[in-house]
Amino acid sequence: MGASGCSAARFLAEKGARVRVTESASTPGLDTREADLDRAGIRAETGGHTREFCGDPFMVVVSPGVDLRMPEIAAVIPRGAPVIGELELGAMYCAASMVAVTGTNGKSTTVELIGHILNSSGRQAVVCGNIGIPLTSVACDLNEDSVAVVEVSSFQLETVRNFKPRIAVLLNVSDDHYDRHENYDRYKKEKLRIFINQDENDYALVRSCLRDDVLAEKMRGKIICFDRTDINMDAAEIPLKGEHNIENVRCAVTASRLMGVAERQIHSGIRNFKTLDCRFESLGTFNGIEYIDDSKATNIDATKRALESMAKRAVLIAGGRGKGGDYRRILPIIREKVKAMVVIGESREKLISIFSNIIPVIAADTMKEAVECASREAVAGEAVLLSPMCSSFDMFKNYRERGEAFRKEVLP
Ligand code: ADP
Repeated sequence: MGASGCSAARFLAEKGARVRVTESASTPGLDTREADLDRAGIRAETGGHTREFCGDPFMVVVSPGVDLRMPEIAAVIPRGAPVIGELELGAMYCAASMVAVTGTNGKSTTVELIGHILNSSGRQAVVCGNIGIPLTSVACDLNEDSVAVVEVSSFQLETVRNFKPRIAVLLNVSDDHYDRHENYDRYKKEKLRIFINQDENDYALVRSCLRDDVLAEKMRGKIICFDRTDINMDAAEIPLKGEHNIENVRCAVTASRLMGVAERQIHSGIRNFKTLDCRFESLGTFNGIEYIDDSKATNIDATKRALESMAKRAVLIAGGRGKGGDYRRILPIIREKVKAMVVIGESREKLISIFSNIIPVIAADTMKEAVECASREAVAGEAVLLSPMCSSFDMFKNYRERGEAFRKEVLP
């Protein structure tokens, strides 16, 4: 009964289908959602899935958070019933061309940038998908001339059957979500599914290092290595900072060119793009120390890329709920760029045990304490970087709230 589930249910009901919604949780917040669905003629059960309630459906739509291997889920899916995701459902009814973007990091930045370039060039583009606007909630408003720029998570790709984007992008693959995708190869295979239904008229955009993986899967789309794209702009004209963001820009430029946007319009779109909050966002320089909010860095690779982009030495604020990757991977860059580390949240002990051999690591209980401590460690000309390598759910509602807490302590 999350955003995409409710959207899918309502979408189907509007098309005349008889829909039932089954939800494992039974939190008080769900009551309003249940009432909303009820008004649309959709019945719901909460607190578990039962065969009696689900009956014998013609088709099953699963939300991206649902693990099909769980026995209680498998028990309510009749043998032979087609199982699709909300993305697939939306795509079935989407007349617009689709540009789909997946990857471990950079999806939101890249879809927003592509959407912005297309819109400012006069095309009707809608940014949707995993970013928080379900495809089913916008699919019917789009026509052949518009473009759906869809952020796709690897969870959504698990249930892909016919999803066929005109341009599909795989930005990068690094360790994250190991709880669901047992190992790296499986996780990568899952991500490559974004290309499986493409034909010779479609485009598969990947980093050069993933080209062979796409070739090995015998995908039929034209493969383009977006990281080799020339962007002919001065770095100073590009509001997005950091080498990882330049990669996202190269990708957006490649996709925009393929969609027929003129070079002049691409440049002006990039120049007036407003960067997203909490993604390597400089909050300003106070007492000579620059404060950078990268709260959205919820895995090791995102933090690694942030540090690689730093011209200054930094005091790093990290920690939260760990995702099971190997922190030792970033020891070299920590040694090179990080002066000291302030750690918060559940993963504190683990971070101390790994990093205190090479730099001072200080534990803090709150964001306030962390910022105070980091500010004492840094001197003018250095930076304080919040780039946690972990999710925020142990201390905050989400990465945004964590970024807010940082900002509140930093800004005068
Ligand atoms: P996503 O939607 O995939 O989570 P975001 O654009 O929200 O991606 O960025 C998430 C985090 O990853 C931020 O910390 C950001 O600085 C970092 N990041 C952005 N683009 C890249 C990239 N191409 N490679 C690695 N890290 C990136």
